[in-house]
Parts: sequence; C-alpha cells; structure tokens
Amino acid sequence: MKKRTNVLIVAAAFIVFLTSCSQSPKQKQETVKIAYLPITHALALFETAEELESTKDGLKVELVKYGSWPELLDALNANRVDGASVLIELAMKSKQEGIGIKAVALGHRDGNVVIVSNDIQSAADLKGKTFAIPHRQSSHNILLNETLASAGLSIDEVNVTELAPTEMPSALASKQIDGYCVAEPFGAMGVSLGVGKVLFGSEELWKDSLCCGLVLTDKFIAERPEAAKELVADYKAAGNALNKEKAKEIAKKYLNQKDKVLDISLQWISYNDLDITEETYNALTERVKKYGLSDNPPAYSDFVRNDL
Ligand code: ZN
Repeated sequence: MKKRTNVLIVAAAFIVFLTSCSQSPKQKQETVKIAYLPITHALALFETAEELESTKDGLKVELVKYGSWPELLDALNANRVDGASVLIELAMKSKQEGIGIKAVALGHRDGNVVIVSNDIQSAADLKGKTFAIPHRQSSHNILLNETLASAGLSIDEVNVTELAPTEMPSALASKQIDGYCVAEPFGAMGVSLGVGKVLFGSEELWKDSLCCGLVLTDKFIAERPEAAKELVADYKAAGNALNKEKAKEIAKKYLNQKDKVLDISLQWISYNDLDITEETYNALTERVKKYGLSDNPPAYSDFVRNDL
C-alpha cells in the first residue's frame, strides 16, 4: 500500500514538473484571466483586452466567457480566474460569504432601463403585474424597487420572477411577463422588436447608480501586484477612450447583435470615469439594505480598492 502511495506521489510531482516546464515563467506572469458575460456592460473590459493585444509586450488579458452569473461566480469564487466583470451586488454577496475579492472599478455608468409592455403607461400600472429581473442580487432589483416606490408601491405588490437575460424580450412578447430590467443589450432588444418601451432610464431613478464592477481576487492582487496595478490603469484608460463609435465597433465584435439593437443600447450607457467612489458605493449599500438584498453588505474599506 505504502509503495503504491509513493509511486503516486512521484507521478504527481512529475506531472507538476511537466506542467511548469510547458509554460515559461514570463508568459505565465503576463496573462491575466478575466471572466465575463457577453453584455454591453462589459465593453470596457473587451476594449482593455483589445488594446493590450495590440501591443507586442507586456500584460495580456485572457477573456473567459460564461453563460450565466452563477457559473461565472463559481469560477471567480474558486480562483479559477483572476477577476471578473460582474454585477457588483453578486460580488458583494461573495465577499460577505468570505470570498477574497476586491472591486477595483465600475463596469460602466448608467446603462440600465426599465422596460414595460406597450399597454403600461406608468409605474402605478405595474401593480399586480409580473416583472422579471436577472437575479435578486442586482441593481435591476433595486431599480424595480425604485420604479415601484415612485408610484407609492412596494415590491410585495408585483410578482417578481428571475429569468435569464436572453429570455426576457421573448417572455415580454408572449405576455408571460409585463416588464423587465436587465443588463444590456436585452432591454434594447425588446425595444427594437417593438414588444416593449422604456418606462425609466436608470439615471431617472438613481443618480450615479452602480451596476457592474471589475473585481479582482485577493490572490491575484497579492501575488501579482504590478500586473493588477497595470490592468486597473489600462482598464480605466480604455473606459475613458470608449466613445460611441468605438463602443459599437467593440460591441459588434464581441456580442453578435444587430446594429439596430446596439445603436439603441449604446445611447443609454457610458464608460468614462470608472472609479468607485465612497459616496456612490455608500448610496448603493443603503439601497441594498433598504430593499432587502442584504442586511450586512461589505464596507467600502473592506471591499473597494481605489488605490490600484
Ligand atoms: Zn451592469
């Protein structure tokens, strides 16, 4: 039995040796793996990857695509990636559960809309109706609460359902739901198909709202501080450089959506000035508590790194 164990240990060590030989230390140091979902909210990340790819040396971003937030979160929480562009509330929840991550920048500014079926005229008409959000831990849930509050309604007066973003426009078309709020371009898709209209833009409900964030693992920041610093600086610069024209070019490359959908969607969003300020973060945590997403969201000083 003991001999067999020794053989296994030697074999395992040999595999580790071979793996480390196949990748030069330089190459290993230069690539950072960032998880994403194919949404317009992640364009600053795609632009960062593009710009770094076009330079011969230095840091490169390996984009790792996921099909849903839970799958992306699993990878992030297990350190299978170095970071992610993710809904900030989901990242806050992971942090609260003891996962070592930090939010280092915003994904975008504004960029969410509340979409309702064409027969709904005001927020008050949503009473008793069915409304879809992608996840309870999202700014979309907060924006639904703000929409209802604007008409003196509470979340208990609508049927809230969680749906995959891609299913929302067709669910609205088939009257399975009466409205939805989700990452873009799925709101624009509903508008483009003529099945829904914009009731509110996020800026009308919540000034300087937060939605997605660029999150890095503590492991990556601790082990490769220079790479983390460079990535955050390049990411913020890429966001500042993303004008409408450039954003559309990148969106076409990464999102496989029709021009019309992208033109509508990109009107609502911007990527400049992606710092997470204490003031806007605290305005988020107040809403997270007020609308029951979490009683104990992480403090700015524990969760946000603005110094990278
Ligand atoms: Zn977002």
